[in-house]
Amino acid sequence: MSGAAGDISMERSASASSLTRVARGMKAVAKQILGKDTRVLLRRLRYSGGKYQCNVCGNRVRTMFTAGLPFPVLRELDVIGGETRENDICPICFSNCRARLLFEYIRRETDAFGSSRRSKVLHVAPEYGILSRMRDRETIDYLGVDLNPPTSSEGAEITCCDITAIDHPADSFDLIICSHVEHIPTTVSL
Ligand SMILES: [Zn+2]
Repeated sequence: MSGAAGDISMERSASASSLTRVARGMKAVAKQILGKDTRVLLRRLRYSGGKYQCNVCGNRVRTMFTAGLPFPVLRELDVIGGETRENDICPICFSNCRARLLFEYIRRETDAFGSSRRSKVLHVAPEYGILSRMRDRETIDYLGVDLNPPTSSEGAEITCCDITAIDHPADSFDLIICSHVEHIPTTVSL
């Protein structure tokens, strides 16, 4: 590549990088200004369609987001969960296939959604879509916890808690959801 062509390519790359940073900055500002309900409404308007339906939030959408990292080494080494997955993430509630499967299990195999009896639910490292469904159900006393709650507005609904030292007596909950939780010291017995 000649020096001039290389310079132009680098300038374009730097320009694209700057635009990406600006876009991210604007997105962060919009997130601070707009309430969560408004952001959800805007996403519903933007992605409305009939091609897919998310079983967690119930929205019909025209597309789902691709998940995963496009690194060849992940494919070459056949890293479990490292592959890219098309049509994986709901653009409204951001549930991925794992969260949708988990929600379907909860819905079919527990009393959380199929009974009028009150139930207490502890949800560790909540998947946002599932959190929303459970929080909105009147018969569920819901407690979402995380060792490091997100700093976003969604994080305000999550209580800081170390699950190796839960401050609740035994048998306090009818249902405990703890999926895809990592970084627990191996020396600790739960
Ligand atoms: Zn959804």
